Amino acid sequence: MRRTKIIATLGPATSSPAALEQLIALGVNVFRFNMSHAPHDWVRKVTKSIREISSALHHEVALLLDTQGPAIRTGDVAKPYDLQIGDIVSFTVQGQKGTEGISVDVNYPYLVEDIHVGSVVIVDNGNLRMEALEKRENELICKVLTPGPMGSRRHINLPGVDVRLPALTEKDYRDIELAFECEMDFIAMSFVRRAADIELLRGIIKAKNSRIRIVAKIEDQMAVRNLEEIIEACDGLMVARGDLGIEVPYEELPIIQRRAVNLCLAAVKPVIVATHLLESMISNPSPTRAEITDIANAVFEHADAIMLSGETTTGKYPMECVEIMDRIARRIEQGKTVATYVNPIPPKSPHQRMNAATVYLANESQSAGICVFTHSGKTARFIAGLRPQTAPIFAFTPNLDVCRNLSLHFGVKAHVIEFHNDPNEILVRMQARLLSHGYAKPGDSIVVVSDLEVGKETLHAIHVHTLK
Ligand code: PGA
Ligand code: MN
Repeated sequence: MRRTKIIATLGPATSSPAALEQLIALGVNVFRFNMSHAPHDWVRKVTKSIREISSALHHEVALLLDTQGPAIRTGDVAKPYDLQIGDIVSFTVQGQKGTEGISVDVNYPYLVEDIHVGSVVIVDNGNLRMEALEKRENELICKVLTPGPMGSRRHINLPGVDVRLPALTEKDYRDIELAFECEMDFIAMSFVRRAADIELLRGIIKAKNSRIRIVAKIEDQMAVRNLEEIIEACDGLMVARGDLGIEVPYEELPIIQRRAVNLCLAAVKPVIVATHLLESMISNPSPTRAEITDIANAVFEHADAIMLSGETTTGKYPMECVEIMDRIARRIEQGKTVATYVNPIPPKSPHQRMNAATVYLANESQSAGICVFTHSGKTARFIAGLRPQTAPIFAFTPNLDVCRNLSLHFGVKAHVIEFHNDPNEILVRMQARLLSHGYAKPGDSIVVVSDLEVGKETLHAIHVHTLK
């Protein structure tokens, strides 16, 4: 069993029922909908189809809606401009009409104010670079430094600028409603800059009485400065290297990634390493050596999940990308650096000490697995956060949504199981599942964590059990 989880972003290359079935069979754990591109009706159709397929295959996955967030974007152009070095481009705001031949509107009213003349404007994820030449009334005039096409709704990055856009835009609010409607498991919040941004979304989720969980995407310098408070406030973190790699000096990126992963491990929060892991495979059938090493590095760092974006939305080899990630992750997980890791975080509460003891027991006795009975998923998440060395975590829960959202967490395989008043009966059901799925065999020793209701009291119990 692979323990590092795989997230695949869906797009035209992967949204047919046949492709979805193949992706699930190849071991995708979480499907991501990128709301910068996905139309609502398409999301409705695809989520429905995923739920049907995974229920037929008895293999639950999590669904993640990724908001566009407060991103600066150019407006629509009739047809893409083919920009040449030295061309003059006018970016307009507040409905100003451009005074140059090549002109496009931008959704950020402070664009002219926030950019200094002489600085570099980065358009379309770094594909186009321009120099700010001159400010006119509601208009910024730039000179093209690197050639290329400029189509509609291209992203503009302003490194180091504290962008004055609200944490959630009108579009985000509509997209978040869609996440509730489609019963998604996670909302990934783009361009989170501070803990208060997450609290805003948390309020909306509470008001809906939903258990949807929040993944904070760190994508700019402000988020890096506020990393600790962001990790504290979120339910999971995404190192969104696409934007981050433009917003910070690129040599800082690996340092930030490592620090973010380590801080998440210390805070026992799941962490995703995202973007460009197999970028070259959007058009090529095999990965570069650097990409192989990048995936391995994320596994060496003990990330919970690695993510595919363009590789699986419009790429030519989406299935191969999942196979390659799967193969590299499995191999690296067997190596000493991963298989002997001990999370150095001292437990803080009695409950945490119990969980740490569980992991200790499993590590010392080379258990075939840790079995967790959990209503909310909390115990399973915590144990996953402690990174048992080799034992997979089998979570049993009566709640389908808990089963699904555990898909994101390192080493967890969750099952829906009906609980029973008689603890013995639950144990029998759990054992039947483990054996019938081939997760373990008779004679294997497992560590079992459960909450036993004894009279009015709840007993948090650990015991070692030999499968019969
Ligand atoms: P995006 O986020 O794909 O929504 O831009 C991920 C990233 O920036 O890496
Ligand atoms: Mn991004």
